[in-house]
Parts: sequence; C-alpha cells; structure tokens
Amino acid sequence: MISEFDIIRKYFTRPASTAVIGVGDDCALLRPRPGMMLAVSTDMLLAGRHFFPDAEPAELGHKALAVNLSDLAAMGADPRWALLAIALPEADEKWIAAFAEGFFRLAARWEVELIGGDTTRGPLSICITVIGEVPPDLALRRDAALAGDDIWLSGATGEAALALAYLEGRARLDGAARDACLARLHTPEPRVDLGGRLRGIARSAIDVSDGLLADLTHILEASGIGGDLAWDNIPRAQAIAACRDEALAQDCLLAGGDDYELLFTASSFKRSEIEALGKDLDLPLTRIGVVVPGEPRVTLHDAKGNPVPVARKGFDHFG
Ligand code: ADP
Ligand code: MG
Repeated sequence: MISEFDIIRKYFTRPASTAVIGVGDDCALLRPRPGMMLAVSTDMLLAGRHFFPDAEPAELGHKALAVNLSDLAAMGADPRWALLAIALPEADEKWIAAFAEGFFRLAARWEVELIGGDTTRGPLSICITVIGEVPPDLALRRDAALAGDDIWLSGATGEAALALAYLEGRARLDGAARDACLARLHTPEPRVDLGGRLRGIARSAIDVSDGLLADLTHILEASGIGGDLAWDNIPRAQAIAACRDEALAQDCLLAGGDDYELLFTASSFKRSEIEALGKDLDLPLTRIGVVVPGEPRVTLHDAKGNPVPVARKGFDHFG
C-alpha cells in the first residue's frame, strides 16, 4: 500500500508557483502582494453529513474546493492559496487520483495554488482552508448593508436542494432538469469572478450555502436592519418552476442551501452598473428585494403586497 508521504508527493505536490515555499516543509511561506489584505476561510466536508460516502471522488475534489472559493468570492477576495487536510479510510490510489484531479482542475481555473495540508487515516473527511487577497476597505462584509439598498441574487437557488430531495426519494426529476440539478449539487460553480467585480459596487455580500432566507438573515443581523423580498421576483430555475410539489419547490428556493450563489446589497444608484456586470459575466443578477429600517428579519410579500408565509429559513447543523 502507498505510504502517507508518497500520497502527498504523488498526488498533492505541484511545483510552487507563487508561494515562496509550498508543500514539503513545516510551513508554507507566502508573500502577499503589497498593500493587499488577506482573506482566510475554512470549510469542512464530512462523509455522511455533507456528501454521500460513495460520492464520485473527482466531483468531491471539485466541490470541497468550490465551497471554499465561494467564501472568498462572497468577501470580494481574489483566491490565491489553499491548504487541504484530508482523512482517508484507506490509501485507495484510484480514488485519491480522481479526487486530486477534480481539485486541481478547479484550482487551475482560478490560479489557486495548493501550498500544504495534512493527510491522515480515518473516516473520510476533507477540510480545506483558502487564502485570498482583497484591497483593504473593499472587502464585501456582512455588516455593511444600509436601509434603501437593493437586495440582489446571482443565478438562482434551489436546484441543489431539489437534487438532494430527488436522491433521497422525496422528489421526481428526469431528463435535462435532473442533470442540471445534480450538477448544481455535485459540482457547484463558485462565483469568483462576480465577487471580485462587486468590489466597490456592492455594499455587503454573503454566499448562499445554508438557504436564501437564512443567509440573508445573517446580513441583516450583522447590519442591524430589516429586509423585504418580493416573492415573484425570486428567480426560478427551470426544475424549480416545473416542480409539482409547491411546498417542496418553495422550501428548496428559500431554504434549500448548497447553492453557492452570491446574495448582495447595493445602493440603488448602482443598478445599471450591476446589470451591465451581469451581462458581461453572462450570469443573471436579479433584484429580489430591499433593505428596510427595522428589526433584522426577512419579510416576503406577493405581487399584491400580501405577506407570503414561510415554513423554514434554512439549514442549521444543530437546529
Ligand atoms: P508535519 O508532520 O510537519 O505536519 P506532514 O508530514 O504532515 O508535516 O506534511 C508534510 C508536508 O506535506 C507539509 O508541507 C504539509 O503541508 C504537506 N501536506 C500534507 N498533506 C497534504 C495534503 N493533503 N495536501 C497538500 N499538502 C499536504
Ligand atoms: Mg502534518
């Protein structure tokens, strides 16, 4: 069987490009670009909790990095480096090779360099730390939303949660809708470009990982302000629009999670700039509501202005 150090050498070591020292020493050594602030985030994925134990390894390598890049995007940071701590039940080289392939393919797209990590034997789990750079004062914080700001959403929410419902036998899906939803669940696309381009445009931002309403509430609580969403303006992916189970579709849309879209607020003076940005990135950016004075709560209204009742806001590991 291959040893720990051979796994690291063979699958997780690439020549250092931007790091002064990458994989191989006791620490990596990094030189941030002059004047930049570091943005650092970590996210853990456990088999049986965040993914099925028999998940396709290349997709898992992609997703583990993608969810971390999404956090950098939500901060408006440019990704630079990553650390990978991984526990493997056994040294299955085919599995490790596929995992590394999925990881490095996404890393290469955003010029992220793997600079270190830890490799151990144990129940399958993956913990990635990412480091990015953002100019001071331009980071997209959660606590900066102001009353009167528009609330914007990239892409559309709900498809990943619908895919999960399908895999758990709670929903029917087939054809193109099934493929689209499964792709959203297994290989999410972090909105890295958008995050960087929103610097100086958005006032606050978060990535939608726990559910649209739950994550909007995080912005509202941090900013000490309320939010009102127009139910009809929330974008519906085809599979969500076509879903016959209305309660399930609503739950996926508003509370599903695992979306990795960016939810952000911006002054209404920025509307045309944001619309142009969406066109440039070929990514729908939709104005779904407004920040309002008051308690840090989300309200939802229909076209007639009547409140829309909501069953659940999102995901909480201890909820
Ligand atoms: P130490 O015992 O000093 O923690 P390790 O033997 O754990 O060192 O790791 C040796 C080198 O390999 C270190 O540079 C570490 O960052 C790197 N490394 C270990 N596991 C991984 C991994 N899964 N991916 C990338 N680098 C790794
Ligand atoms: Mg170690």
